[in-house]
Formats: sequence, structure tokens, C-alpha cells
Amino acid sequence: MTTVHNFLPEQYRQTNQISINHNYLAQQFADHDVILNKIREVVIRGDFTLGAEVDVLEREYAELNGVRHAIGVGSGTDALFLSLKALGIDKGDEVITTPFTFYATIGAIVTAGATPVFVDAGADYNIDASQIEAKITPRTKAIMPVHWSGKPCDMDTIEAIAERHGLAVVSDACHAIKARYKGRPSGSLGTIACFSFHPLKNLNVWGDGGIITTNSDELADKLRLLRNHGLVGRDECRVFAYNSRLDTVQAVVARHLLGKIDHITESRVSHAAYFDQGLRSIPQITVPAREPDIYQVYHLYQILCENRNALQAYLIERGVDAKAHYPVPMHLQPAAAFLGHKAGDFPVTEKISAHTLSLPVHEFITREQQDFVIQLIRDFYA
Ligand SMILES: *Cc1c(COP(=O)(O)O)cnc(C)c1O
Repeated sequence: MTTVHNFLPEQYRQTNQISINHNYLAQQFADHDVILNKIREVVIRGDFTLGAEVDVLEREYAELNGVRHAIGVGSGTDALFLSLKALGIDKGDEVITTPFTFYATIGAIVTAGATPVFVDAGADYNIDASQIEAKITPRTKAIMPVHWSGKPCDMDTIEAIAERHGLAVVSDACHAIKARYKGRPSGSLGTIACFSFHPLKNLNVWGDGGIITTNSDELADKLRLLRNHGLVGRDECRVFAYNSRLDTVQAVVARHLLGKIDHITESRVSHAAYFDQGLRSIPQITVPAREPDIYQVYHLYQILCENRNALQAYLIERGVDAKAHYPVPMHLQPAAAFLGHKAGDFPVTEKISAHTLSLPVHEFITREQQDFVIQLIRDFYA
């Protein structure tokens, strides 16, 4: 008997019944005929893997981020993994990151052969940059900051530390398309930045996809080799490598939404500001401080709540898809047992995990729905 099965069909069935949902894909792709017509052309041309649309998307994505290169890959996870490999990271190396993230950040480090070294999060849910330097050892090769919920980390501090110690910075920018740090686009933060096109990310495709941005010609060359069997041409393999290409059909979908990304982003930012305003005065809720020189794009809208589990159940019963991203931090996952951490090691992360709640903030949420959610939260605590 097997014990691991595909749990997604049941999860889709359950969440589709909720009225104010995190999942907005039917609305997002209401104009799917436009996309399907473009995909028909791909089918007729037959350039399914790394076809012409991938090249165009890469140019557009590099331009969007003001960087020299963008490299399309199979997923955000592969973007992180291949970036570590392009930097030569392997067994015995250490990568500093946060335990308050999605599994893929740590999965990429571990599958690359390296050891994740955790630094606690700060009150803004991002890695506490002031604690990084104390964790650097002779084996440290890179820092992997996660721009959580689309809020760029404290990059001035992180880049200065990296410079001082000769470390690479691999940004996990999977939440952070269009985010800005002191005017700098997210794809230009660090040595390399990695993005996901997963269906629930701000720019989503019809399955999996990802993209990597960098200003380094050398790293761009390595990444183009690593994603495609190490090939410089059909008959010449420079290095034995991986297969993680962005499908041409996914590049078509990504380009379609790239044309709408300003609207997508601005709607999320506006909805978040409205939630901030409605929720900040509730004493049992903590809304994170917002910083004027950081443009956060709200892949997630997160608050800290007293009595989180009860509030979450209360909202779900009333048709609001309230979620906890994520209730168990990375250092306390069964997969992390080999690192030997225990509860209490990263107190800020653990506090956030215990109290965090995410509310739907995508572009199709209406003010009436937001008012309804805010009122429910007020009623719950009244
Ligand atoms: C989604 C996500 C990833 C992985 O992206 P996939 O495209 O799903 O592989 C990595 N890091 C973070 C923070 C993410 O949210």
C-alpha cells in the first residue's frame, strides 16, 4: 500500500466551494480564447520546447527588471536550484536563508547538496538582515533572501554583507514580480533573482514555469546550459546537466499576462491598502508596518491575529478563504529533522507562524467583499 497520493484534486474541489476565494483563475483566464488562439499557432509551428515565444518573453522580462538577462526554466523551484548550481554550490556548502518561507526555498538548497542555515525573520516576516553576519562560516557560499509576500528584503544590508564576505545573493523573488526596493526592480536585487509562474503567483501560467534574472553574462551562459542538457548546439554538450526548459505554450500564457501585470499589481496594492485601513484599528490584529521606499506587491495579504485558528475557522464557515501561510515553519518540518532544530530556535518565525492569517487580495476582489471580510473580523472579536 502506498501512503503518498495526489492530494490536489480534493483540495481544488474543497476550495472551489468558497465564495471569497484565493483562487481566481477562472476570472483571470476568462479571455482564454485569445490565449488558445496563440497556442494554436505554437501547435501548428510545433516549437514546443524553448520556442520563439520563450526568447521574446525572456527579452521582455529582462527589460521589465532592467537587467541584461532573463532565462526561462521549468518552475520557480528549478530557478532556485539551477541558480545555486550555476554558482557552483554543492556538498559541504552552506546557504543562509529564512525558516519563514515556502518549502521550495529550502528544497532547492538541499537538493543542490548544500546545507540551509537559518536566520530568524523580523517583524516584517522577511529575514532579519542584522542577524546574518553571525551565521557566516568558511563554508557559506550564498545568502538566499525571500521577498516574502512581495516585499523586498533589506537589500542594502544584505548586499553589503555579501560584498564584505564574497558571497552570492540569490533572491527568492517568487512572490515579488514588479516589487521595488528603493526604486530598484525585484529582478535586479542580488546576484540572481528567481521567479515562479505557478498558477497562484501574481503572474501565472497554465501549469509550471519560472524565470531567472541576472546581470552576469557568465551566470546567464551557465544557466542556459544547465536548463538544457548542457548543450551549446545540437551536437555539442559542454557539461552534463538538467532538463528544465520553459514550455513555449507557457511562455504564450506568461506573455499574455505580462501585458496586464501593471493592472494586476496595482489592484493588489490598492486592495491591501484598503484592508490595512479597515483592519489596523482592531486591537487583536497586527498589520505589519509599511515602508514608503519599498513597493510591496502583495502576493499575499497577511496580518497577525489573536486566536488565529478560531478566526480562520469562523471566516471559512462564512465563505471567506482565510489561510495560514504557513502554520509550521521550515525548521520544525519533518524534512528538517537532520538539521537538529527545536521549537524556540527562531522565536519571531514561530510567532508569525502561530498568528499569521492571509486574506484574498487578488485583482478580482471587490470593495464589497473586502468590507464583508473586515466586518466579519470585527464581529468575531466583538
Ligand atoms: C512558489 C514558491 C516557490 C516555488 O515556485 P514553483 O514555481 O512552485 O516551483 C519558491 N519560493 C517561494 C517563496 C514560493 O512561494
